[in-house]
Amino acid sequence: MSRIRLLPEALANKIAAGEVVERPASVVKELLENSLDAGARNLEITVQAGGKRLIRVLDDGEGMTPDDALLAFERHATSKIRRAEDLSCIHTLGFRGEALPSIAGVSRLLMETQAKGETVGTAVEIAGSRMAGVREIARAVGTTLTVRDLFFNVPARKKFLRADRTELGHVVNVVTQYALAHPEGRFALAGWGSGMFDFQAVESLRERLFQVFGAELLRQLVELEEDLPFVPGSPSPQGTGPGEKIRLHAFVSKPEVQKPNRQSLYFFVNRRMVRDRILMHALGEAYQRILPDGSFPVALVFIEMPYGEVDVNVHPSKTEVRFRRQSMIHDCLREAVRKALKEARPEAAFSIQPRGMEVEPPIASGARPESAPGLRPPTRRGSLPLQVGEPASVGPELPPGFQTSSGPAAAEALSSSDTGRDSSPPTCAAAELISGEQAEAIRTAASGTLSPAHIHPLGQIDDSFIVASDRGSLLIIDQHVAHERVLFEKVLGQRRGGRVESQRLLLPLIVELNPRQQILLDDLTPELNSCGFEVEPFGRRTLAVKALPADLGPSDCSRLLGELLEGVEKEAREVSLERLQEKIAASVACHAAIKVHTHLERSKMVWLIDELLKTRYPMTCPHGRPIILRYEKNEILKAFKRI
Ligand code: ADP
Ligand code: MG
Repeated sequence: MSRIRLLPEALANKIAAGEVVERPASVVKELLENSLDAGARNLEITVQAGGKRLIRVLDDGEGMTPDDALLAFERHATSKIRRAEDLSCIHTLGFRGEALPSIAGVSRLLMETQAKGETVGTAVEIAGSRMAGVREIARAVGTTLTVRDLFFNVPARKKFLRADRTELGHVVNVVTQYALAHPEGRFALAGWGSGMFDFQAVESLRERLFQVFGAELLRQLVELEEDLPFVPGSPSPQGTGPGEKIRLHAFVSKPEVQKPNRQSLYFFVNRRMVRDRILMHALGEAYQRILPDGSFPVALVFIEMPYGEVDVNVHPSKTEVRFRRQSMIHDCLREAVRKALKEARPEAAFSIQPRGMEVEPPIASGARPESAPGLRPPTRRGSLPLQVGEPASVGPELPPGFQTSSGPAAAEALSSSDTGRDSSPPTCAAAELISGEQAEAIRTAASGTLSPAHIHPLGQIDDSFIVASDRGSLLIIDQHVAHERVLFEKVLGQRRGGRVESQRLLLPLIVELNPRQQILLDDLTPELNSCGFEVEPFGRRTLAVKALPADLGPSDCSRLLGELLEGVEKEAREVSLERLQEKIAASVACHAAIKVHTHLERSKMVWLIDELLKTRYPMTCPHGRPIILRYEKNEILKAFKRI
């Protein structure tokens, strides 16, 4: 008997309508959801050309009878809901009955399936919605969907697909998200060289996190688990969901971890990855006094609740939800995270780093030269507005830095598993390199010509800033960024002149990569090797670093590579070789430069000022931060009311 039914029109009209197939990753998403809904535990995904040429998802789920195998391709045909009431209690990942017909409409599709208890299986072939053949086959119980030549009959859509690597990146994100939500399943993805990953089924979320992100990231996370009872007297929820409770299981990063974007925030509701303002806001509040503005934690939040408590029929992509008790969910998440962070660390260590010692926030691309030259004292960190998506139209005000992004990619992209950043020195991951023209404008705007003959270092403030006199004027020089500028120009000059200094390591360093980083790294390796690194793949998703640029210490290397990959990923398009060389030079410079809180002998200060003034752009660091603040003699005299 067939399980799949056509939905009555009135019910079909109640379902959030819209396109589901946007790119290969959306096909993979729908196919994975179908496999998981069919109870599959073994999921093998293969893609070619980032999914443009081929996507294959093989599962060991319950399979389909011959009748169902044909019905599945009708629009609004589903085995998952029957009546309008079912919509308020959705317990499966899919329910719209639209994915298979939509995918079959824009590709050449082959479905091979065998249901439990049936003697024969069925193969159905469809090309651009036209049935091309049905035959009996023999296979194990389960289903394999093969989707070839996506958009072969819609050239306009095909044109908008990105480079294979970019599309593959999206596929990796999707498979990883489902793998995180379903640790009891095996998820194997092949599509790049020998295969991207093969996460075997595990018992716990913790183990799955370890498989996906590695030990390093796991060490930086605090695990929390809470059962949240319903408010007494509240109407009992419809349907039997995962219990009559709300269960929260989360991994949130310790206060010292700071990410420059929201890409490491994952929220799952009843094993469905969602983008949700309420949850995002709650997390933002929990971290409000812990992270500086514009920094984000790493968080994986898994919430399970009775199905009737959450409406998933909000958006066709099924990634937006509406909670019946949204303020309760919000407050519970916030309090649980606050409590866990407090337990992980004593109260006293909680405050943000001392304001006065912070270095200016990086100037993002499109830096405004007038904000940088050294005639004014530094503005406060966080004064640059964060670029975010559309203003909130529903829900509460979001705390600084936690506004939801408008781009669907914002919550989608896979985080990197590099180490978190600690407070000093400021790292460069978040900063955009500024162009030579921007630096030139800053230089021109800076008053006075600097000459080493006139500059006399007087000492340091807080072992971080050199105070110097220059013919009656006062200079304050940030020693870290000054040295960064010197090294940046040196490293870049050596690379472009083909005279790179490199040091071999006695023992190679082993760096862990996540699947996304692995793809990016393949492209970066030749240039890294020309810049004085010697990196080689070392087993699955690890990298052996055998040599480093001469100025760099081994302890900085894995963080540097993580930041570099994060930076390249953020640009989202192909990075030119020139820009890549600059990025590598800037990363090396940032990590090798003298740190803040380092005492310098006078001779070292003289040397640094000398070297700085030999550079092309002594006023700004490669990321656009000012290096020198200058207080003119006249200003000083005026301030003392002498003129
Ligand atoms: P929906 O998932 O919203 O029901 P789909 O178009 O994705 O709609 O799938 C239609 C139907 O085909 C599903 O309801 C399910 O019964 C069946 N189906 C699809 N994929 C599989 C699979 N991998 N294993 C078993 N049944 C499947
Ligand atoms: Mg489906």
